[in-house]
Amino acid sequence: MVDFKSFMPVEIIFGRDCVLNNKDKFKGYRKIFIVTGKSSAKSSGALNDIQNIVNDTKAEFYIFDKVQENPLLSVCYEGGKAAYDFGADLIVGIGGGSPLDASKAIAMFAANPDMNPDDLFNPPYKNQPLPIFAIPTTSGTGSEANPYSILTLDGQDVKKTFNYIKSYPQTAFLDPKYTFSMPYNVTVSTALDALCHCIESYLSVKSTPFSAIYANSGIKYIYHNLEKLIDLKDKSAIESKIDYNIREELMIGSLCGGVAINTTGTCFPHPLGYNLTLINGLPHGKACAVFIGEFLDMHENFISDEMRDAFKIPIAKVKETIKILTDYHEKFDDETLKFYVSKVKTAKNFTNSFKKVLTDEEMFTIYKKCAGK
Ligand code: NAP
Ligand code: ZN
Repeated sequence: MVDFKSFMPVEIIFGRDCVLNNKDKFKGYRKIFIVTGKSSAKSSGALNDIQNIVNDTKAEFYIFDKVQENPLLSVCYEGGKAAYDFGADLIVGIGGGSPLDASKAIAMFAANPDMNPDDLFNPPYKNQPLPIFAIPTTSGTGSEANPYSILTLDGQDVKKTFNYIKSYPQTAFLDPKYTFSMPYNVTVSTALDALCHCIESYLSVKSTPFSAIYANSGIKYIYHNLEKLIDLKDKSAIESKIDYNIREELMIGSLCGGVAINTTGTCFPHPLGYNLTLINGLPHGKACAVFIGEFLDMHENFISDEMRDAFKIPIAKVKETIKILTDYHEKFDDETLKFYVSKVKTAKNFTNSFKKVLTDEEMFTIYKKCAGK
């Protein structure tokens, strides 16, 4: 028999209007600190739902809307100070992975006002983080179902993961209606991210029979919808053409990916993708997807019948679909790629997959194949 451990303490509430239908979850909280990006919390309708609840419960609320894509450590620190000054007793993250990840760091800083920004990565902590509610408005990161907070170090174009056992959201509210406002490109990139999580998790040395169930289910929910997204590309009024069923399946698939990587973490497509995001501005999901074809090639002998069945079509066609949606054409010279290797080579994810990537040369070779001149 196989031995494994699993820990996933998040209460998951899924479905249309799930926030409004579960307003009792907000009872007892008097000072609610809401963490968002610039506009998606509003355009998705999620902030409005929260404000209606807070009006009912007569709690005070504070909206911290300074979180940008690939959140900066300094902004989370600023959010933590603001939450502490406000006297917050609950952090509510609304948005894509960026605000959700930021809310985990903010919850820790708010509970530990004496901490410096870098202390976030250096446990032990004096106090436990404030409770977090997570409300995703993208179907991609699965951040609502894990404790990871992937932060950008100021001025360094480097991402670092804050990962603490008490930083899981207490409750995640997943309502597919919040994703209707996502532009087509965000829908595609975030869906690719979710698929990468499932593929990387399934082919991770840390994969367990339990995490593999989620990874493979995620593939089933996500992949066939990616083919639909290709078909929808040239239609007008695209957001409304991606119907509720597609959005629902993408959200479940993304959640499955989040639960799967909660056990395994991700593999090399993620750290290699960070440079394309932070230096070249490619959205996170597409940046990881640039490397997933090579990842699948390197793991050809490890792909089980069960995984092939989840895709329902040959892996070669899967790679083609991912390539079309990723739509990535930029190529870099060797010097740039060596610099990229130097920025990410200490990431732990390189050793997570069955085919471990150990040396700078191996990282360079993958970069060269996927994004080299
Ligand atoms: P995001 O960075 O949170 O948001 C991307 C863009 O989409 C933003 O402009 C955002 O607008 C917009 N947006 C989000 N939801 C929308 C909606 N419903 N309607 C309209 N616009 C919307 O995107 P993401 O891909 O979900 O998250 C990426 C981040 O998550 C990265 O920092 C990545 O490192 C991290 N990540 C975390 C995990 C994890 O396990 N914790 C896993 C993978 C990735 P606003 O600025 O207005 O919000
Ligand atoms: Zn990701």
